[in-house]
Amino acid sequence: MTGVGRVSLVGAGPGDPELITVRGLERIRSSDVLVYDRLVAQELVDAAPLHAERVFAGKSAGCAALDQRAIEDLLIDRARAGRHVVRLKGGDPFVFGRGGEEVAALVSAGVAVEVVPGVTSAVGVPTRAGIPVTHRRLSSSVTIVTGHEDPTKDHAAVDWNWLAATRGTVVILMGLRHLATICARLIAGGRSPGTPAAAIANGTCPNERVVTAPLSDLAAAVVAADLDAPALVVVGEVVGLRELLSPVARVEPLPALLSWLAPV
Ligand code: SAH
Repeated sequence: MTGVGRVSLVGAGPGDPELITVRGLERIRSSDVLVYDRLVAQELVDAAPLHAERVFAGKSAGCAALDQRAIEDLLIDRARAGRHVVRLKGGDPFVFGRGGEEVAALVSAGVAVEVVPGVTSAVGVPTRAGIPVTHRRLSSSVTIVTGHEDPTKDHAAVDWNWLAATRGTVVILMGLRHLATICARLIAGGRSPGTPAAAIANGTCPNERVVTAPLSDLAAAVVAADLDAPALVVVGEVVGLRELLSPVARVEPLPALLSWLAPV
């Protein structure tokens, strides 16, 4: 268990535990310490060796189990004690995951760190729901934005006018709370109110729910359906392909792979 400590910052994929990478799973299986977030599948936490210390570092309803500084200190402390620490984050660790901050803290503490990419929910969730984020005829760009911030606030981090003016696909993470304002901003910026749009909750998981509506009606449809977080929103002509493509995207899990996730 002791030796040269290191940290592997691993992307867990979009929800379905089978969508982690081979390397990501291998790192979990060889971990001594697993520090994981709220959106990580329980099967992946269970895949760590029995001796591994498991630390939940997630947030629920805005309340953090550990603050960012405490997480970084924990990673540094365990790695310095000679442990292999896996820091497991939902999706890809560098997409709205503060992965960059954690790597910077580890590097400045002189701790060896590697990053294992993951399938980001921003792409994997629409794909699994039958929505291709780009399409040769319909959209040649995709922009991933955070909807966390109120779009009417001065000096907003996201330039909604620019985004409305692009004809490409827009994927909004963390956008449920401000959805009505976001949709109104996109329409005010020039997007057609009839643009196809979808909200997808618990994407790739057995409890996945998809609500589709024209952009002007999406916020009301989401309220009527009582969608829960985590959810993301896709806006663009590509959403119209869902009817055609979703049966093809819906591949059932493989029982053999589920046993592959079990601890060794
Ligand atoms: N690093 C992550 C994103 C972290 S931000 C990634 O690459 O996927 C968290 C946001 O991601 C959530 O608020 C939600 O908007 C989105 N999200 C994550 N998992 C999701 C899922 N299974 N279904 C729908 N949205 C999801």
